[in-house]
Order: sequence, then structure tokens, then C-alpha cells
Amino acid sequence: MGKLKVAFFDFTSCNGCLLSMINHPEFVEVVSHVELADFRLVRSLKVEGPFDVSFVEGYPGDSHEIERLKKIREQSNMLVALGACACTGSIQSIRNFFDLEEAANYVYKGVKKDIAEVKPLDAYVEVDFYLPGCPASGAEAVQTLKALLVGRKPEIPMHAVCVECKLRETECVLVQGIPCLGPVTRGGCGAPCPAAGYFCDGCRGPCSDPNVASEVEILRKLLGKEEIVRLFRRYASLKEAFKEVAEGKVE
Ligand code: SF4
Ligand code: SF4
Ligand code: SF4
Repeated sequence: MGKLKVAFFDFTSCNGCLLSMINHPEFVEVVSHVELADFRLVRSLKVEGPFDVSFVEGYPGDSHEIERLKKIREQSNMLVALGACACTGSIQSIRNFFDLEEAANYVYKGVKKDIAEVKPLDAYVEVDFYLPGCPASGAEAVQTLKALLVGRKPEIPMHAVCVECKLRETECVLVQGIPCLGPVTRGGCGAPCPAAGYFCDGCRGPCSDPNVASEVEILRKLLGKEEIVRLFRRYASLKEAFKEVAEGKVE
């Protein structure tokens, strides 16, 4: 059997997820076992598809990128959404709550008109695996690539971030009166933010079966309605579980 043909693509994004993956200490070793087909950030090689696996960072920001994404999907046996932009729309999706033309003028000063509403990859194409996070975890990305190399299904957790706080014995910031989205957010990151004295602001999107009503009830003791809405808009306002609150439906 030949080497797996793997491509890495970036769409509208900050490249933080690809950098997080490249900077992982095992990345170079793991990637030496694949046929590198396309990777703009590393070197300019353009190998035509089909690809066994395509990692895609970012979201398609205009009609040209939407068409490019569809072509990549057609040429890829498996497609991995790398990072929050690709999985949920991430921080850019805040712009969906503003007038699109006004946002385009504000950012591009009238130069660029053709900007699309921010939507994750699966609004346009089928996605096989999701690697959430802003940025995505380099370790999780490398583990996923390793699993695909040996023909195994990658294990990407869906439990809440709180589980990982408990595992690393981090004192809960909620009990200190600091608002935290950890109870409704998908873990797998190792809960670094609460461990650093910050709070989880939900960069990995919703966990499986999140109790959003109970989370909002807790947050209401610490924050005003507007602040809660802004928190739920930050990374995953398009996900069904966060949608209602992100759209302002908070009692
Ligand atoms: S998910 Fe975050 S780090 Fe990754 S490309 Fe988007 S904005 Fe950058
Ligand atoms: S700090 Fe946040 S993520 Fe950690 S246990 Fe408390 S609520 Fe959960
Ligand atoms: S703790 Fe929350 S905000 Fe921090 S990396 Fe994990 S999911 Fe993202």
C-alpha cells in the first residue's frame, strides 16, 4: 500500500490552527509518513487531487472560496475541519449579527464587496471529522493524522471541559464568581484556560447534550443578559445548542 496522500488547505482564517499543528513536536515525524500533496504555509507545492485526506482551516469567506471548497471536497476521500472557524464559524461569526454590507465597508473600506455570511464548512460540504478550538489543539490534530495513517477512526472527545478541570484538579473558577462556559463546552483541550486562572469562553463549541438552560441560570447570577448573549455569540452561535441564547433569547 502506498503512502496516504494528505493535503492542508487554508481558507479565510488567521492560520493559527495550522501553526498550532505544525508546531507540535511530533508533526514533522508524522508528516514524513505521508505524501504531502498541498500545503501553502510550508512550501509551494501544488499537487493535483484526488487526496486521501484534506485538512481544511478557516471558513469560505466569498463565492470564490465556496466554489474552491466544493472542488476540494469532490477530490477528497476524507475531509477534516481544522479549528473553530472551519467547525463552527468561530470569532468571525460575530459579524453575522451586523449588516453584511456595513461590515464589508468597515473592514475592506469599499474594496471588497463579495463577502459571504460566515458559515462553517459543513454548511456547504460534508465533513468527516471535526477538530474544534481556537486554535485547534496541535496534539489532537497530530493524533487524528496518526489514526488516519493506520486506518483507525480518530477519537475526538465530546465531553464537557469541566471533566478535564476535575482530572487536572483545577479549582473551579465559577465558585470564585468568575463566569465560565466550561459546563456546556466540548473538552479535549485539557482545560488550559481555567487552569491559568482565566475562564472557558467556549472556543470548542458545544459538548454533547449540553444543559444550556442550567448554564444560563448560573451565569445570570454573575452577568447581565447582554454579556451572556455576547459570550454565546463568540465562537459557536450557529450551533443549534447555542443558537437561541446567541440570538438574544435570555430571560
Ligand atoms: S479557529 Fe481561531 S486560530 Fe484557528 S484559524 Fe480560526 S481564528 Fe485562527
Ligand atoms: S472552571 Fe469552568 S470548566 Fe472548570 S470546572 Fe469550573 S465551570 Fe467547569
Ligand atoms: S478551556 Fe475553553 S476556551 Fe480554553 S481552550 Fe478549552 S474550550 Fe477553549
